[in-house]
Amino acid sequence: MQTKTYEDINERLSRGEAVVLTAMEFKDLARDLDPAELVREVDVVTTATFAPMCSSGVFLNFGHSDPPIRMEEISLNGVPAYEGLAAVDAYLGATAEGPGNTGYGGAHVIESLVRGEEVRLSARGKGTDCYPRTSLETSVSLDRINEAWFFNPRNGYQNYGAAANGSPRPLRTYMGILEPEYGSVSYSTSGELSPLLNDPECRTVGVGTPVFLCGARGRVVGPGTQYCDGREKGRSGLPLSGARTLALWADLKEAEEEFLAAARYDGYGISLFVGLGLPIPVLDEDLARRLSVRDGDIETDARDYSRPGRPVVGRYTYSELRSGSVEIEGRRAPTSSQSSLAKARRIADVLKERVLDGRFPLEAPREPLPEGRVQRPLSARSPGWTPGAAELRTARPGVGPAGYRRARCVDCGSCVAHCPAGALSIGAPDWTLRYEASLCDGCGACFSACPREALGGGRTKTVPIRRPAVFPDVVPDVLPAVEPAIESAIGSAAGRAGRPVRVRA
Ligand code: SF4
Ligand code: SF4
Repeated sequence: MQTKTYEDINERLSRGEAVVLTAMEFKDLARDLDPAELVREVDVVTTATFAPMCSSGVFLNFGHSDPPIRMEEISLNGVPAYEGLAAVDAYLGATAEGPGNTGYGGAHVIESLVRGEEVRLSARGKGTDCYPRTSLETSVSLDRINEAWFFNPRNGYQNYGAAANGSPRPLRTYMGILEPEYGSVSYSTSGELSPLLNDPECRTVGVGTPVFLCGARGRVVGPGTQYCDGREKGRSGLPLSGARTLALWADLKEAEEEFLAAARYDGYGISLFVGLGLPIPVLDEDLARRLSVRDGDIETDARDYSRPGRPVVGRYTYSELRSGSVEIEGRRAPTSSQSSLAKARRIADVLKERVLDGRFPLEAPREPLPEGRVQRPLSARSPGWTPGAAELRTARPGVGPAGYRRARCVDCGSCVAHCPAGALSIGAPDWTLRYEASLCDGCGACFSACPREALGGGRTKTVPIRRPAVFPDVVPDVLPAVEPAIESAIGSAAGRAGRPVRVRA
């Protein structure tokens, strides 16, 4: 059996002799070489994903004012931060939202800090002998505060179930807008590029493993929350749903604007697109075989988000999902992705350069991730009520009747399945979004589908939600009629049923 060690690989990197490939390049090579040859030929493979990861946030230490304050009721640009740590430390969660402004949250503040912008800091204190000040209004920026660390409790899901909706009304979720009557299927993860699908047993990933996190060189600090290594596996031996996750740390001061983006999911809330990269050393034939996995081998279950327990209603490979449409409950439904393949490819390329030029030396994990972990459900669950708020936004110009703003687009593809005119498409070779203004009639069906507000020229169509967001068949007596405003915001789904999504060949 052909093998090599971390020391062998780092030695070859330092001599400039190592061969580092992106996961795309490696998989192409694997068509012609067997695993033993791949171990001989290739030292490191870079994997990546760029997807909304709600379980993200930053610890901040602001430093002491004079006179000092024990900060309570902390907010940044109006977004509340958790203050129960010490006098001037706070944790700002990516999904935190300011009161009365559901379109702006912690992820937007994080994005502003990384861009080098000033952020308004407000705090109150009760006043103590050691901290006499009782209020503070100032501004801070990333270069003027002491520490700013990402601490993301759950990133890098190994796989993620696709989402569908069998109910008669659209659902607005963290998986984007799910068209009624199984009118769309939404999926996430970068499939064959995804870090933990390329090393499914986490042989090279553990406590202390260096990772690329939003441009910074971060670390795995341990298993992420909801980590589970006992999920049902598909025919290729890979888990069919979430399974393992990672808790990650990185210095926010090293993060780069290109590799993170705030997101707003209409009817759900705020999230953060996180760019995550993992270099995997090709230590032996087993790893080489696993790194050769293709989208056609990786399956994921699709679940119905409108029904209690979210039953499985389909099983698809990532090749099928990326084709633009899949068969579900006897009909053809367009698919939409929530993560950006174009950005994931870019991260794999950048990480390859950094490994080659010595900025990203490889390290063996200090400790393995745990085995035998299961995910426990919360026993007393009931349908929740989602507070909503009407939102009026200033219109800003963009291209065409849809007001498409390229600068805000991260090429996730979430909008594509919702365009009845075929004006939005995504696909090979570059997987960037194409908007054809000549086909667009400005119907607005895509506006709310975009988590980045890249469509609609700043005109989102959020309406208050005054009923349970899910499980309508469980509580029909409390469901008022679907509001016409929601229908017009999301577009008439009936006319789009069965329309294949446009995926460029
Ligand atoms: S406004 Fe309507 S026609 Fe134009 S891109 Fe959006 S969904 Fe398609
Ligand atoms: S315009 Fe489409 S591809 Fe671009 S960020 Fe919005 S939903 Fe994603």
